[in-house]
Amino acid sequence: MAKIISVNAGSSSLKFRLFEMDDETPITSGVIERIGFDDAIFTIKYNGEKDVKTLPIKDHKVAVQLLLEALIDKKIVNSLDEIKGVGHRVVHGGEYFSSSAIFDQDTADKIDAIRALAPLHNPAHLTGYYAFKEAIPTAGAVAVFDTAFHQTMEPSSYIYPIPYKYYTENKVRKYGAHGTSHFYVSQKVIEKLGNPEHSKIIVCHLGAGGSLSAVKDGKSINTSMGLTPLAGIMMGTRSGDVDPSIISYICEQTNISVEEMIDILNKQSGLLGVSGVSSDFRDVEKAMQEGNERAKLARQIFVRRVADYIGRYFVQMGGCDAIAFTAGIGENSFSGRHDILEAIKEALGIQINEDINHEAIGEEALISTPESKIKVFVIPTDEELVIARDTKRLLNL
Ligand code: ADP
Repeated sequence: MAKIISVNAGSSSLKFRLFEMDDETPITSGVIERIGFDDAIFTIKYNGEKDVKTLPIKDHKVAVQLLLEALIDKKIVNSLDEIKGVGHRVVHGGEYFSSSAIFDQDTADKIDAIRALAPLHNPAHLTGYYAFKEAIPTAGAVAVFDTAFHQTMEPSSYIYPIPYKYYTENKVRKYGAHGTSHFYVSQKVIEKLGNPEHSKIIVCHLGAGGSLSAVKDGKSINTSMGLTPLAGIMMGTRSGDVDPSIISYICEQTNISVEEMIDILNKQSGLLGVSGVSSDFRDVEKAMQEGNERAKLARQIFVRRVADYIGRYFVQMGGCDAIAFTAGIGENSFSGRHDILEAIKEALGIQINEDINHEAIGEEALISTPESKIKVFVIPTDEELVIARDTKRLLNL
């Protein structure tokens, strides 16, 4: 019996899911939020029950200890030795990692070396790694990178048209993100299409953050996020692609710094910025139904931008066998899917079974009709499972 825990350590949070890997059953999951505060929140789900506690949690080390104590207290494990592997989600692997890797000192040093590319995330992942290493020294560790799946892009897709020295000297290029999700969802679609050798798939990962990818023959050949997750489609609070001159123009006009402007593009833009209502897609839809014009505009821009990326990737791959929707909006918003598909269906020959689309909420479904030129799927993503599988594979468990 091999138990593996998937861990996603953020700057002030730690999400986890423990699997029994013999049959890939999730045993328990949860999140510790507001690490570093006196009112941190520890939520753990087990046996259909949810236990929520508010308590002071000084740092990630304490958070990990607390989590492991809870596993013992609740008799989820009898001893920590039962946990044979810890799989860590790592946001940025730079050009060092094109696949998951054993998390040892060398991997840790590389993750640290590119911390400037993900200043909030990479240091937090390292903190999580050291905390688990100390708490369960007998368990192996694996790093699973959000960027790895997109390392198969060609230079013509990942080099920015700016002086080349910024790539060679400063590592500026498109890296993409959500790679674990794009990999999982595209693999599921390949299984369903039954043509692993030749497949052209567009994955739409639409959550609070969102990105699209073009996956040809199982490999990512393009994706909408860039050097950082600020690029690409419009998101909950992130602008996605904008004319970079906007930055200096607004800084001059309103007397703010570049840092402040980047913060605005990250945290006050997107659905929230345009609608003025919320970053949450459900809230924006509700406001729109109540007649809020800016909420309507925000949603229209969101749809337009997703549709534009689908068009680009359709052209880049020379066609498309399947489009897959995933993550919070992609899995749950039948109206969002409907409007995106409305925007592309004439050009791409797509036909949707509206009844199936309407019912496909948070579950796997084929929502296109047999006549549709492109199959359209809803595929719930499962990044934690990919992390656990890679951990099992690399540790030979
Ligand atoms: P994260 O990027 O934080 O993982 P999620 O994948 O959880 O985000 O997606 C969050 C988004 O999904 C929010 O905008 C939320 O409004 C949207 N969402 C979740 N459920 C629904 C639903 N039933 N209908 C429409 N949107 C939904």
